[in-house]
Amino acid sequence: MATEEAAELPDLDNLDAYGRALADFADALVDLHVNAGAPTLRQVEERARADGRCLLSVSAISEALNGKRLPSLDFTAELVRQLTSNNGELLKEWIEQWRSVKRLQRKARVAQQRERQTGNHEDVLGENRDRSAGDVSVGVQESPDLITTDARAEAKAIAAEAKAHAMRVIKEAEEEANRLRSEAHTALREVESVTELPLGELENFLVAGRAALRQRLRQRSSLRITLLGPPGAGKGTQGIYLAKELDVPKVHLGEALRSNVARETKFGRIAKECMESGKLIPDDVLASMIFERLAEADASRGFLLDGFPRNLKQADLLAQWLAVRGVKIDMALLIDIPEEEALMRYEGRRICSHDRNHVFHLQHLPPKRYGICDSCGGTLALREDDSALTVRKRYEVYREDVTKVIDRHESEGQLVVIHGLGGVADCTKRAVDGLAMKAAQIDGLCSTRESPHPEG
Ligand SMILES: [Zn+2]
Repeated sequence: MATEEAAELPDLDNLDAYGRALADFADALVDLHVNAGAPTLRQVEERARADGRCLLSVSAISEALNGKRLPSLDFTAELVRQLTSNNGELLKEWIEQWRSVKRLQRKARVAQQRERQTGNHEDVLGENRDRSAGDVSVGVQESPDLITTDARAEAKAIAAEAKAHAMRVIKEAEEEANRLRSEAHTALREVESVTELPLGELENFLVAGRAALRQRLRQRSSLRITLLGPPGAGKGTQGIYLAKELDVPKVHLGEALRSNVARETKFGRIAKECMESGKLIPDDVLASMIFERLAEADASRGFLLDGFPRNLKQADLLAQWLAVRGVKIDMALLIDIPEEEALMRYEGRRICSHDRNHVFHLQHLPPKRYGICDSCGGTLALREDDSALTVRKRYEVYREDVTKVIDRHESEGQLVVIHGLGGVADCTKRAVDGLAMKAAQIDGLCSTRESPHPEG
């Protein structure tokens, strides 16, 4: 480690020169400290910690002021910053001064090594003491003539600053987390004190409550429900699942129409003529087909009506027909989705060639085998009227007419609204929960809060 430069100098002079320079350096630090109003070392330590560049421990400051050893450049710079209120000019001078002492220290180190070789093991430079002042980058392992460059000092300062910043962020995050945790605990205690139940138990009660309401819904003596929603909302699919869940038939206007046309009934023949001449099928003809189906035995307790009524005239006809039988629509389930979502859904929709109730969707309800119906093995195809233009047209009709029907159901307290986004099973669950809650309200079992818990 010895260099020729160091070897040229007499060893003892080097040790001596370093000792004197270190003492002068320490004296100058003491002057700075006094000029700064002699703050307590604790105060200096705390200010440095707040600034976050370099940690100045009380003991390390004390060592520096007493000239026990040369502190690191970072430490010196920070101490000078603290004692001179960050005076840049003074800081430069101090860095120069530190460098000259450092040079002497290196030379002295060489001398000390020679002393050691001759049996003198005294630790003159304090190199083996605790390194709390953080002299790492300019440590013993470096070659003696390598002087820390400005760039290096700067890089070190930036790294120290970044680290300090990270520490501050972590500390702030910890404080914030503690605050939130404390708030959450307080809120939890408040809830528990109000309900006198632990929150977990409360959740169990809610789950059990919803299950009980669903059970009650299934056993209700009247389940006359209409399905409403924009095209593509999934009424058809949900109708199938809800019919199973509630054990009532799904009655679809399109099916009733096709069945009448196929059987060549009176209404079927009228409908066929209208369709062939491009005219609208009269409301009372459509209503008659629906009523014929609703009069069948399986619909005596209830039904899920899909596709009817589509306007107020049809709604009136239905209400009259039911009134004659001493019943009425119990609830209207509106499955709502945005128009753009509807268009997207139609593009992925596939209908079984054997049975139009076998509906699949490439994204939401894919068949097990591509293009093949899970239920009957029929081939799946895009329905002819699922084109974007047709869907937009149906949307116009929906906005024009069906929304009026929805408004009427709402004013009569029968409307249940759920959003139709997400998976089919989730949507069915929301629908059943919504209907169960509404049924409980209608039957006076619970207060008139609008929507039930959307999930679970
Ligand atoms: Zn099929």
